[in-house]
Amino acid sequence: LVPRLRPFTSTIFAEMTALAVRTEAINLGQGFPDTDGPDGMLEAAKNALFGGANQYPPGPGRPELRRAVARHRERYGLSYDPDTETLVTAGATEAITAALIALTEPGDEVIVIEPYYDSYAAAVAMAGATRRVISLVEGANGRFVLDADALRAAVTPSTRAILVNSPHNPTGTVFTREELSVIAEVCVRNDLIAITDEVYEHLVFDEAEHLPLAGFPGMRTRTVSISSAGKTFNCTGWKIGWVCATPDLVGAVKAAKQFMTFVSGGPLQPAVAHALDHELPWAGRLRESLQAKRDRLSKGLAEAGFAVRPSSGTYFVCADVRPLGFTDAAELAWQLPERIGVAAVPVNVFTDHPDDWKHLLRFAFCKRDEVLDEAVNRLHKLG
Ligand code: PMP
Ligand code: GLN
Repeated sequence: LVPRLRPFTSTIFAEMTALAVRTEAINLGQGFPDTDGPDGMLEAAKNALFGGANQYPPGPGRPELRRAVARHRERYGLSYDPDTETLVTAGATEAITAALIALTEPGDEVIVIEPYYDSYAAAVAMAGATRRVISLVEGANGRFVLDADALRAAVTPSTRAILVNSPHNPTGTVFTREELSVIAEVCVRNDLIAITDEVYEHLVFDEAEHLPLAGFPGMRTRTVSISSAGKTFNCTGWKIGWVCATPDLVGAVKAAKQFMTFVSGGPLQPAVAHALDHELPWAGRLRESLQAKRDRLSKGLAEAGFAVRPSSGTYFVCADVRPLGFTDAAELAWQLPERIGVAAVPVNVFTDHPDDWKHLLRFAFCKRDEVLDEAVNRLHKLG
């Protein structure tokens, strides 16, 4: 393996899920739901499978899916031409990697905000670019907030792009209008490309609202907006993602993408088109149910002795292990499955500064209530 990829030989999700399976632990580590998506979407996939949609779809994606993606973006007041400004990818993961490979050169710097989704560092490395990491900081009420000064200070003459994930995995932070305005202003002032990971766009709670960065002044032409169906429609294994951007930017991403997978998920594409067009009310109910699950798990974790941080979106809530007498959440995470039969993920594996983040565990709440309750029962044994 080449040196620049040596830090990326395995993923925390594969390792922790393997440990959970081996120990028969409840897996609140890797984020995936334990129920299926909407029946209408599954029916549409079945019909496509038995209806002959089993050969290569068009390179940029099935036209009905590209039209549905563009219509979905209109909900935010953003217009994209389905033919020239959308692209279907193998999940958001491929879209992010292809965007970085297509848009950065060795020597370019990419600003990444930690804690960051694990594929970002690997994708920057595959592109041969350099990641420049800034940290979210803990605000007054435990919310993790953007450090505007750190962001401004991170820009150098070599900075080419910034990767922005909101709603944010693992903290559950949903960036506010003010935070996104700062990012937009830094991008415009320094002529940067923004690559946005919006896979949790429909999973926002309470008063939080998902605002696409592309909607901010000066950003429509410099933002590669990425999302996918996995989280919105409980189908994380389908890996149907998409990109919306200007024809130039989409063309660049497509140039890289076509030699990574060319195409994928032929019969699933019409089903996701159906879901985007008809199943958003279902996704709204999913959002409500996840909000209740967030409350259920957060309350349970607090009663078990953790100091729980607020989460306004995603599948995840972070909890501080120090009130229970532990100092190293990573060490604890590797013991938990065997010790009490619960798996969680240490937050510091998503960072370049593991010591700063070593007190936090990430728990996924996208599970049936009885599973969450049993996990909480077991976590009480820690106290
Ligand atoms: N980005 C974030 C922040 C994620 O949590 C995930 C995990 N599913 C992905 C991207 C990957 O999305 P996909 O499965 O569509 O590739
Ligand atoms: N997005 C999921 C998480 O953060 C996992 C995806 C994966 O296993 N690569 O838990």
